[in-house]
Amino acid sequence: MNAEAHERACRLIDANHVEGISAPDQEWLEAHLAGCPACATRAKVNDRVLQSLRSNKVSIDPAVVSATQARVRWRAHQLRENQARLHALWISCGLSWLLGAATAPLLWEAIAWLGRRLEVSHAVWVAVFAMCWLAPATLVGAVVAWKRSQASGVRNGHTSWER
Ligand SMILES: [Zn+2]
Repeated sequence: MNAEAHERACRLIDANHVEGISAPDQEWLEAHLAGCPACATRAKVNDRVLQSLRSNKVSIDPAVVSATQARVRWRAHQLRENQARLHALWISCGLSWLLGAATAPLLWEAIAWLGRRLEVSHAVWVAVFAMCWLAPATLVGAVVAWKRSQASGVRNGHTSWER
């Protein structure tokens, strides 16, 4: 047999698995495979490889599946909690700003009176007023920073349920 016949057989073997071949091509291929051990071996090897690929099922450990589901649920819960906390933080920031603006004149007067009573310089009692007025915001900022550092620790895999 010539090389062209083997080449045609190889093309038909491959095409038969992909898109199928016409009935005359099928007849020609069967006749060729009956008389050509090399092409028949190639066709059998192709069949076996395809069969093993089709029957190969990917099995995943159920423990891995349940652990992944638990992680996804935990992360979704954490995101919902963070959203609620952020909402509460914005409300408290707004209230804090309103209360701070409303009480600033009273605080100013009280600290000025105290400064006059204790006979401290103007700069000192203005500094005390600034510290008193900024203390709540500083405290909230510190709490937020602390919570963030805790959250990043959790993100890095230090969760209690993983241990
Ligand atoms: Zn052949």
